[in-house]
Amino acid sequence: MNGMTSAHLPPDVLVVGAGVSGLATALRLAEAGQCVTLLDRGPVARESTWAGAGILSLLLPWDYPEAVNALAERGRRLWPEWIERLQALTGLDAEYRVSGMLVADAGRTAQASAWGERYGRRVEPPPEGLGHSAPHLGDGLWLPEVAQVRNPRFARLLESAVRTLGVEIRPETAVTGFDVRQGKLHAVETRAGRLVCGRAVICAGAWSRDLLGPLAFGLDIRPVRGQILLLSGRPGLLPCVVYRGGRYLVPRADGHVLVGSTLEEAGFDKSTTAEAGKSLRAFALETWPALRAAAIERQWAGLRPGSPGNLPVIARHPEVDNLYLNAGHFRYGLTMAPAAAELITALVLGNRPALDPSPYAWPGA
Ligand SMILES: Cc1cc2nc3c(=O)[nH]c(=O)nc-3n(C[C@H](O)[C@H](O)[C@H](O)COP(=O)(O)OP(=O)(O)OC[C@H]3O[C@@H](n4cnc5c(N)ncnc54)[C@H](O)[C@@H]3O)c2cc1C
Repeated sequence: MNGMTSAHLPPDVLVVGAGVSGLATALRLAEAGQCVTLLDRGPVARESTWAGAGILSLLLPWDYPEAVNALAERGRRLWPEWIERLQALTGLDAEYRVSGMLVADAGRTAQASAWGERYGRRVEPPPEGLGHSAPHLGDGLWLPEVAQVRNPRFARLLESAVRTLGVEIRPETAVTGFDVRQGKLHAVETRAGRLVCGRAVICAGAWSRDLLGPLAFGLDIRPVRGQILLLSGRPGLLPCVVYRGGRYLVPRADGHVLVGSTLEEAGFDKSTTAEAGKSLRAFALETWPALRAAAIERQWAGLRPGSPGNLPVIARHPEVDNLYLNAGHFRYGLTMAPAAAELITALVLGNRPALDPSPYAWPGA
């Protein structure tokens, strides 16, 4: 069915939400030969996926339980081959690069070493000389394998790959309801009319619970606002990702530096605040004083799909046979994207999953 999507044929699978979760899911399903339609309420990937910092790692991985690490690690292993294949397919560059992450004042160094051994990851003392640039390095750790990607570019690349594989993308098509009868989804109601489909996968990020309404069951996904400040520096001013006390600095290849991020319960309010801007700038200068020379260019906010323990739900609906969910990746939707898409695709197609799906089951099922 690949490449045969037609407005006249119901798709095998309807994917709702065109952020990284929906795009990666649509891509994987199309690669498996499914006829896929992807809907979004707005433009493609303008929500959390656009707003994120693009660090492809858990921030303090040793503080997370096995199920979160399993998905992030699977994602990390899939990313290099995934990005290479997508860049070759589209001719676009998403600025994927392994820049390493310096964890200042890491504290729990014994746990970090145990985590490194458990997952076969390098956890090392910081490279010589970094102490001069980072006065608060403390008992710092160096994770040389951490990669990053530039979100808006990656979203464009993923959209292009999805289109190339024949997925029909319909932006500005909000889903408003579900026609469910006798445990089966018959159609999805949208602002542009009713859409019949074989199966549907909801990837609506922070909006997933509200969108599902009475079908949400025990789903606990809520918006958690994150603000980022963008500084314009020169290339090399900051050599790697730096994490310190809950916040981070991310250098882009062209010298821009992202300073992130806040974690705020503000409902669906995406506005930025002067207070957050001030506190992010103070954090940046304290952590890496050379950034004093970098001008403030922009500030933005996005709504993460927050979930308890940062555990996403990647599962079939407990009562509706042909309805699925891939949402709630919270702080790590980019990191987990290829692994989450791989898992939901296996569940949709009834194939053997690469990961044990049980930790990501629908709560209350
Ligand atoms: C400030 C910030 C920093 C971050 N940093 C990182 C990081 O460094 N590394 C990392 O891995 N992750 C990071 N994240 C998290 C990551 O961005 C998210 O986990 C990820 O983008 C979630 O993707 P998603 O596709 O599930 O949701 P979204 O990107 O939010 O997409 C959901 C889509 O669903 C659509 N939708 C909603 N309702 C409907 C409807 N009724 N009908 C149709 N469509 C609908 C929306 O329009 C939207 O396009 C960060 C997030 C933020 C905000």
